[in-house]
Amino acid sequence: MSQQKTEASIITIGDELLIGQTIDTNSAWMAQELNKIGIWVQRRVAVGDRWDDIWKALDEEAAHSRIILITGGLGPTADDITKPLLCQYFGGKMVTDPQAEANVRHIFEMLKRPMIDRNLRQADVPDVCTVIQNRRGTAPGMWFEKNERIFVSMPGVPHEMKGMMTNDVIPNLLERFDVSPVLHRTLLTAGIGESFLAERISEFEDMLPKNIKLAYLPSYGMVKLRLTATGDRPGLEAELEAEFDMLKQQVTDVMVVDADKTLPQVVAEILLQRRQTLATAESCTGGYIAHLFTSIPGISECFQGGIISYSNAMKESQLGVRAETLKAHGAVSRETVLEMARGARLAAGSDFAIATSGIMGPGGGSTEKPVGTVWVGLAGQDRESASQFHFRFDRMRNIELTAMHGLNALRKFIRYP
Ligand code: AMP
Ligand code: MG
Repeated sequence: MSQQKTEASIITIGDELLIGQTIDTNSAWMAQELNKIGIWVQRRVAVGDRWDDIWKALDEEAAHSRIILITGGLGPTADDITKPLLCQYFGGKMVTDPQAEANVRHIFEMLKRPMIDRNLRQADVPDVCTVIQNRRGTAPGMWFEKNERIFVSMPGVPHEMKGMMTNDVIPNLLERFDVSPVLHRTLLTAGIGESFLAERISEFEDMLPKNIKLAYLPSYGMVKLRLTATGDRPGLEAELEAEFDMLKQQVTDVMVVDADKTLPQVVAEILLQRRQTLATAESCTGGYIAHLFTSIPGISECFQGGIISYSNAMKESQLGVRAETLKAHGAVSRETVLEMARGARLAAGSDFAIATSGIMGPGGGSTEKPVGTVWVGLAGQDRESASQFHFRFDRMRNIELTAMHGLNALRKFIRYP
């Protein structure tokens, strides 16, 4: 196929998506995967399990895109109507796919569950599609072609859809389309607001060549900057690299890392590289920081564990915070978080410890310490530090902000003795 821009649409099907009961994570994941191979997702549509709406969505997306990826509506229950609809849409009739049937039988045998006809019907497919076998579930995927358009229908279950995308859909698309590359370079900044950043690099942005775009991705007090280069020209990678270097020079003082990484990953990498260890003492974040670390594979080399000391009693008994300290300064104070951090470091025998204590809201604030007041304490072998923050959001966001700002403080603490 020619080197034209290949455009795709994603249709996600299911009433649960429309009422917000299920968050449509499929679209985001599929868009990322398509983007990686240079296919542009230009439209994403969610529709309910309704015949006319799905039909119309197929017509509309076919008018826009060469590739239409569909998820959802393939379950064995009456509310899932995608399969019979596709059968009619592409003018086929239902037949049983032997391999899909063997798969359904195999799964039920493995699970030792009784199988009813409804389950076996999962193996029925329109005779006008190429079947994509489901190695992670019972509903097969279906690949249709019509009027130079490719339609791929996959199950809504994210894990099953991902298996099909990775094993079949992406490799097949790569074979069919000679797509031009899309290159990304991303860096992470902290401690500077989006608009200030934009002011600072506005000249750089204005000078960018047309095929390189700059994107701002703010989240939790940090801003990611992403340069995206498109086009077929030779030397595209070097061109992007040169621009990325220039960008880095403009933000050296606020740059956390020059890669698409999260803050916990960055902290973990520094610790792993230095063979140093960390423990946590969390009050207001309730183990969230520990969770961020334990989500990283291989973290056991540096993360030793944490104590969730929510009550004052636990702060005293588990971390050795003194009753006098709590009485004199309160649980949300420099003195307390420092004692917490010391206590955690001692308990774990780690190189570093981070401690959090704050008022997350909506209640519990006072004039002296309003909702959103947070102290983060850091302890190392021969030094310590504490910082105060003021957040003004809802409880969950305050927790996330505490974690991110705390981790950024920790990153600086371990990096610059
Ligand atoms: P279905 O193929 O319609 O039977 O979908 C099965 C299950 O997958 C649903 O109950 C949802 O929990 C989940 N699911 C469906 N569509 C999506 C989507 N777009 N993003 C994330 N999960 C989904
Ligand atoms: Mg459904």
